[in-house]
Amino acid sequence: MKRLVVIATLTAPLVLVSPASAQFGSLGKALGKAQQLHDELTFTEAEEIQLGRDISAKLRDKYGVVQDPAIHKYVTLVGTVLAQASSRPKLPWTFIVLDTDGINAFAAPGGFIHITRGALALIQNEAELADVLGHEISHVTEKHTLNAITKSKAISLGAEATRSDILSQAADRGYSILLENKYDRGDELDADKVGVALANRVGYAPTGLAAFLTRLNQRNAGLKEPSGLFASHPETEARVEALGKVIASGHLTSTATVAARYHASVNYPLVAVAGVPQSSATSAAASSGASSGLGLSSLSAVGRERSSNQTISSAGSRGVNPDRDAKGGPNKALVPVTVTAAEVAAFRKGIVG
Ligand SMILES: [Zn+2]
Repeated sequence: MKRLVVIATLTAPLVLVSPASAQFGSLGKALGKAQQLHDELTFTEAEEIQLGRDISAKLRDKYGVVQDPAIHKYVTLVGTVLAQASSRPKLPWTFIVLDTDGINAFAAPGGFIHITRGALALIQNEAELADVLGHEISHVTEKHTLNAITKSKAISLGAEATRSDILSQAADRGYSILLENKYDRGDELDADKVGVALANRVGYAPTGLAAFLTRLNQRNAGLKEPSGLFASHPETEARVEALGKVIASGHLTSTATVAARYHASVNYPLVAVAGVPQSSATSAAASSGASSGLGLSSLSAVGRERSSNQTISSAGSRGVNPDRDAKGGPNKALVPVTVTAAEVAAFRKGIVG
């Protein structure tokens, strides 16, 4: 469809103004090149999934994977309930717990959702986990990362580039986008909106995301500059306010928090991350034994936006970003999990309260 439009607008003036053919020749060439690049960076669903697999492998290589089938099963059950209610239920949804104290979450194209051990330590109940996973799932269903790759100027392809070269470069680019949280501000707000609506639809309190963001803000209170995923305070407040409006206008009234099942399933201690000064709020939560917490990589990306640039220029992308730079574990292997339809149905019945 897009291609047809380009051809139509190009050919019409050519017919009318033939003397300017030299000029139009170069214009046509430029448009042709743009069209070629567009086609090269248009991915089939199979390619999207392959890209996601490749990006996931890079994330696992950096952070390692928690080698615990039980935690993977629990996160997979929460994630599967959500994914099945999403707009792309057929993707090969895969939920991976990364072995780092850094607080982060990453959504790779094709349905590969990653959350860190540190994020799980900070989250306080299953609704917060569902809201965070819902946000990440929405980055996939709305193709935010895929679109960011397509728009990226950092991909330069020679004339002789093979499809495999293109996919390899796209995977490199996608990985960098995820690590540096280079989502459009609009994409972040969109993922918030679609994500909490999704969680609400299956019964989870949609207020968990704002609770999580607010706690993340407290946890990051000692940071001198906004870095990586860490929101600076006014922006987080604005985001929380936007979430309140989404919940009110969408009549999102689900209330289940499912705290007991969360604490029965997740029991990670809150561990300080190098470079993040311990705030009083975090220390209090840690010393009381409660999990405190917040933090998604992409979440705070919005908060860090300082200019009016559409693309978030991550102030911390090359600088200080303690969660991104936190140490990872040694074992990169996936922990395979299978959940049956009956298990998902039974789990879903537990979303009450
Ligand atoms: Zn995000």
